[in-house]
Amino acid sequence: MPEGDTIHRAARTLHTALAGRTITRFESVFPQLSRARVTGRTVESVDAAGKHLLMHFSGDLHLRTHMRMNGSWHVYRPGERWRKRFSEMRIVLETDAWVAVAFNVPVAELLDSRSLARQNDLRNLGPDLLGETFDAEEAKRRIRALPDEEIADVLLNQRVVAGIGNEYKSELLFMTGVSPFTRVRDLGDEQLDRILRTARKVMVANVEMRSASRITTFSLDPSAKQYVYSRGGKPCRRCGTAIEYTRQGKDARGTYWCPKCQRAEG
Ligand SMILES: [Zn+2]
Repeated sequence: MPEGDTIHRAARTLHTALAGRTITRFESVFPQLSRARVTGRTVESVDAAGKHLLMHFSGDLHLRTHMRMNGSWHVYRPGERWRKRFSEMRIVLETDAWVAVAFNVPVAELLDSRSLARQNDLRNLGPDLLGETFDAEEAKRRIRALPDEEIADVLLNQRVVAGIGNEYKSELLFMTGVSPFTRVRDLGDEQLDRILRTARKVMVANVEMRSASRITTFSLDPSAKQYVYSRGGKPCRRCGTAIEYTRQGKDARGTYWCPKCQRAEG
């Protein structure tokens, strides 16, 4: 599932391939994308904000896409066979050297800088864990503003802190020894600092590694990439207790945790 690191890595790859190049073909299944003329413009840059991918074109035009659960961007050489079916294609952007294809992307819009600045999801985004700088104090302030909520839910709230998805949520709370059901008001400053510090460190490392799959354990054993995520019923890598699983919060997102290593706080 695309989390902040996936999107930032995709943005880097797309930027390297496309920046400075002229768009020779632009097609989309979305009618709202056919209104502006994209062909003939230059790709100025590609970057990410939280889980949004932003392509900036010459002439004040910006393409915002959001991957939600299943979306992805691929880069191919012209004529190269796609790794997904044609029916999954949503956007094709072609230059002389590369073809960028968005598959199953559910959210896409073309904006000028004024509407981009006003875009609600972007404007309300919390500090980005993968941004060049990360304002941990502001992230903490936004977490503290939700004292009655459980920390696992708060970490998924992109308006609080941007970039964490469901997999990192479970992994980070295991790595910091915090129960996912702890209410924010019961967490100490030191614990919040540790959660945010660990999040930034692990997510930045995953962008740098360019590995196809996310690793939080940094184990050399390829079958041991996660501590708890997707490991319900299996033994905890630290203490051997069976990993538990439940659906948590108003969106019923899956949470994995070790009942022994992650205690409800006091
Ligand atoms: Zn354990």
